[in-house]
Amino acid sequence: MSHQAFDPHATLDHLARGARGERLVHVRHLPRREAELVPWPTWVDPGVYAAWSGAGVTHLWSHQREMADLARTGRHTVCATGTASGKSLGFLVPVLTALAEGSHAPTGRGATALYLAPTKALAADQLARLEAMAVPDVRAAVYDGDTPTDERRWIRDHAHYVLSNPDLLHHSLLPGHQHWAPFLRALKFVVVDECHVYRGVFGAHTSAVLRRLLRVAARYGSRPTVLLASATVAEPARLARALIGQDVVAVTHDGSPREATTFALWEPPMTSADTRRSAVSESASLLADLVLQDVQTVAFARSRVGVEVVASSTRRDLSEVDPTLVSRVAAYRGGYLPEERRELERGLRERQLLGLAATSALELGIDIAGLDAVVIAGWPGTRASLWQQAGRAGRTGTESLAVLVAADDPLDTYLVHHPEAIFEAPVEASVFDPENPYVLTPHLAAAAAELPLTEADTQWFGPTLPRLADALVAGGVLRRRPAGWFWARSDRPSDHVELRGIGQTVRIVESRTGRVLGTVDEARAHSAVHTGAVYLHQGHPYVVSELDLIDASAQVVAGDPGWSTQARSTSEFRILRADRQHQWGAATLSFGAVEVTSQITSFLRRLPTGEVIGEHPLDLPVRTLSTMAVWWTLPEDELALAGVGEPEIPGALHAAEHASIGLLPLVATCDRWDIGGVSTALHTDTGLPTVLVYDGHPGGAGFAEQGFRQARQWLAATVETVQACECAVGCPSCVQSPKCGNGNSPLSKVGAVRALQHLLAEQGRPR
Ligand SMILES: [Zn+2]
Ligand SMILES: [Zn+2]
Repeated sequence: MSHQAFDPHATLDHLARGARGERLVHVRHLPRREAELVPWPTWVDPGVYAAWSGAGVTHLWSHQREMADLARTGRHTVCATGTASGKSLGFLVPVLTALAEGSHAPTGRGATALYLAPTKALAADQLARLEAMAVPDVRAAVYDGDTPTDERRWIRDHAHYVLSNPDLLHHSLLPGHQHWAPFLRALKFVVVDECHVYRGVFGAHTSAVLRRLLRVAARYGSRPTVLLASATVAEPARLARALIGQDVVAVTHDGSPREATTFALWEPPMTSADTRRSAVSESASLLADLVLQDVQTVAFARSRVGVEVVASSTRRDLSEVDPTLVSRVAAYRGGYLPEERRELERGLRERQLLGLAATSALELGIDIAGLDAVVIAGWPGTRASLWQQAGRAGRTGTESLAVLVAADDPLDTYLVHHPEAIFEAPVEASVFDPENPYVLTPHLAAAAAELPLTEADTQWFGPTLPRLADALVAGGVLRRRPAGWFWARSDRPSDHVELRGIGQTVRIVESRTGRVLGTVDEARAHSAVHTGAVYLHQGHPYVVSELDLIDASAQVVAGDPGWSTQARSTSEFRILRADRQHQWGAATLSFGAVEVTSQITSFLRRLPTGEVIGEHPLDLPVRTLSTMAVWWTLPEDELALAGVGEPEIPGALHAAEHASIGLLPLVATCDRWDIGGVSTALHTDTGLPTVLVYDGHPGGAGFAEQGFRQARQWLAATVETVQACECAVGCPSCVQSPKCGNGNSPLSKVGAVRALQHLLAEQGRPR
């Protein structure tokens, strides 16, 4: 290939030439990291060793060996190391060794193992990689909702290694555990891959399913060792413990090699006093510039629409400078046919394609590696996704370039100005609440149907078990007998519980075809798919012709009406109890249970310019949400001392509420749609000016709790973000919120900074 050696520094200098230098906020050089190689353990099965050493893996990386040795001694272990650090081999060495050893038992199946992935695709991918290694004596198979009935029986009776997902456990394996008795009796290992994905409500559900599995296995005399693999998150041992309810050792020192990368943090310019250029437009300009420099680049956008915009504006920019380059830019939105994907892969390999705009679907979709540069339009949500996307660039022995372009969102603003939050130890923890009664109660019903519940089961489900089980008795779901709690109904409990949400869902139905496009939680349905709403589904606009709450469906028609809609609402809250409190001088910070009452009252139609073209009343019922929240109060006279006069208090608190919601994902793996907020200049329960941030799911999801645990870091980041923003009176990068029910009014940017600074200064001061 005639391609010249790529120089990321010269390329970056070119991108940041002239006045554009101001947009380049930070450059971090991530040096090449050498592999830490260690020998294979002597206890490895010869067939397993032969398979991998035959493929050139003559040594292990240090973290793989560390995990393998811990697993071999029966310790529950979580490996939390970087993307592409070979975590799989860390669990496969002990698991496959145990399976191969067990295959010599008289039954041919002295040991079994269960592998769980969050998606079917990932389990299928693991199986394909395992089959490619052709390990002798180990029979592996995927068992999921698509497995044909005749294969199911064979797998249950003969497979050593079953690859599946939590949904299958919940709906099939656990309710029918008798059919799995021989498999469960021999169960030595349970692997939980990509365990950082189990967060929020999904995390709580998965945790309950894993505990049900361990309990049923114990009934068959098995105490499997649980091996978990996670992206790098804060406190991986705590996450793993919350998932399985038992102590877990964490392996965090990454011994895998890494090529050098130059990582640039880029902030688009303000285009007026309160508008910043979008990350998507800015990324398109960067992509065009890179293509012109003959730098092969992929640009990641968050949505399909974003991908289209990046691709089309890049092509437009190029057509003005060098029309021959227009055909060398493509868009990839996922969902392509295999031959289309191969075509794209070949174009990249042969450098026919120089620029590609893609959604993160690329992470699992097509195989590309060895590009020169990656442009990331907007923070992708977590560090794990960031490294996954950045890792798409870099050929062996060559330095690559990655550019993160900030979107107009408080979290993005904070991160590009605080590179240590990206590049140093992670502060974001993957969190959920395993004791959320709204999640745990139906799983206890399911557990009772699997095997009667007893007091001793608190070892799996925690101390709230007796209270929740008695509530199920009162509801006629369970029956109390001397031997424990028994399932009292004729149907199957797992049919009533969906793992990926809570309560009712509303179906989104395309009127013309009757096709169900997807579902939305009832909690979000009122604001997202009310009659008249413009709803984006996978980036495509639809107009809701009718929301029918009785039928739990929203009828939609495809098409872009040329405006967007924003729901307006009123909300109030009651404090039910404060579980924990910090006293910061005159300020009080609390975490506890609240009841949030809200009602969507109308919606606005807006043109793409932001201009409002009408407000339309809605007739929707009041919703009540019982959840967990973090809140703080500061007396009025203290606010006055901070320079926030009485008339300014509502705007100051409202702006502080928005910005702190925007920054909570810094410390907990949620996005701003998982949480909500209310602020008030005088609350009847506290008698004081109060700002509240709550989990948007019944019973809570762990996010507000994480905010309370890391309140200082969270609120300090919030005030810094608002203060650092260059806008005049507030913009989406700091205090405006896209989901505000009050149309972003009133907001006081300066008042928010003063109130939050005063709050933080109170910390450590006596009352
Ligand atoms: Zn701003
Ligand atoms: Zn608001």
